[in-house]
Amino acid sequence: MPRPILAAIDTRAMAHNLARVRHLCSSARIHAVVKADAYGHGIAAARQGFSEADGFSLIEIERAIELRQLGWRGPILLLEGCFSALDWQAASEHRFDVVVHTDEQIATLATTPLSRRVNVHVKFNTGMNRLGFSPGRSRDVLTRLSSNAAVGELTLMTHFARADEPDQHLEQLKRFRDLSDGLPYATSVANSAACFDFERVGGDWVRPGIMLYGATPFSHATRPAAALGLIPVMTLSTEIIGIQHLRPGDAVGYGGTYVAGKPERIAVIAAGYADGYPRHAPTGTPILVGGHRTRLVGRVSMDKITVDVTDLPLAQVGTKVELWGANLPVDEVAEAAGTIGYELLTAVAPRVPRLLR
Ligand SMILES: *Cc1c(COP(=O)(O)O)cnc(C)c1O
Repeated sequence: MPRPILAAIDTRAMAHNLARVRHLCSSARIHAVVKADAYGHGIAAARQGFSEADGFSLIEIERAIELRQLGWRGPILLLEGCFSALDWQAASEHRFDVVVHTDEQIATLATTPLSRRVNVHVKFNTGMNRLGFSPGRSRDVLTRLSSNAAVGELTLMTHFARADEPDQHLEQLKRFRDLSDGLPYATSVANSAACFDFERVGGDWVRPGIMLYGATPFSHATRPAAALGLIPVMTLSTEIIGIQHLRPGDAVGYGGTYVAGKPERIAVIAAGYADGYPRHAPTGTPILVGGHRTRLVGRVSMDKITVDVTDLPLAQVGTKVELWGANLPVDEVAEAAGTIGYELLTAVAPRVPRLLR
């Protein structure tokens, strides 16, 4: 028997969340963002759950090739672009669209013989100061790209640093509009958070990621995923594998950081940081045992966590445990552990089997 930990992936929830994007951004085409192995859900699940998307976008070229092998014939966008001449050749061969954000990439493209034209998304830095050309260079960059016979369609893109905070993306949006208005190119601007402000942000393409997986791009406290009409895709579940009876003063786990104040019943659960459960989750982090909410106690170890089941007398070896998912938002667990749903989902370890439903 395999260990009981399992990530169940609800492909119908994926389709629902994609339909939510379609409703919010009805005039745009959707590039479903599937980087980091579809935010930890697996590329095969993404291919199935997002089959109604207009395109996929990701970072990893091997995964892009896998999408082609899974039968996806539509657009695929490489979000960090090409890292070498070989990547350009593979992009051309497999019909990948490619982000260009440096002069080095333009130079490599100019000197690499390609079998077929490549569509390019030109990325502009409008204030995030991570990747992209400064808007002042737009004429020069667009002239160089459009005069290269290997370049097919051009699209202009930018990425927001603070679309999750009210109105904090408007300055970047203005800079992007100043450079793109009047040019004959399609545009791509919105991440998940900005999809909820599509009326103002606009764009011919949108690039939602986290919302497609049913987690919030905002803070869980103010705009939880359920209030945004999203359905959790991954349910990470496992079982109780041991029970301990503590006397007052007994400590639990490494470091003895949790000490029982009264007689307590503690369940030992098959999930640890080597599965992707956050080691920083403190005593009090919520967890569902047999459908009942209780709390983590003591330190998260590599393969196990310990949970207070004093008030759940029916909890025993074999009782089902939900770490996050359909009944406990991943964002709530993330908040307790001082991080975000994105990190928990993408950190689910390869040793955890994914089961498509
Ligand atoms: C990851 C990423 C996205 C998706 O962001 P979410 O916040 O998950 O919606 C969009 N665009 C780019 C360039 C990205 O790298």
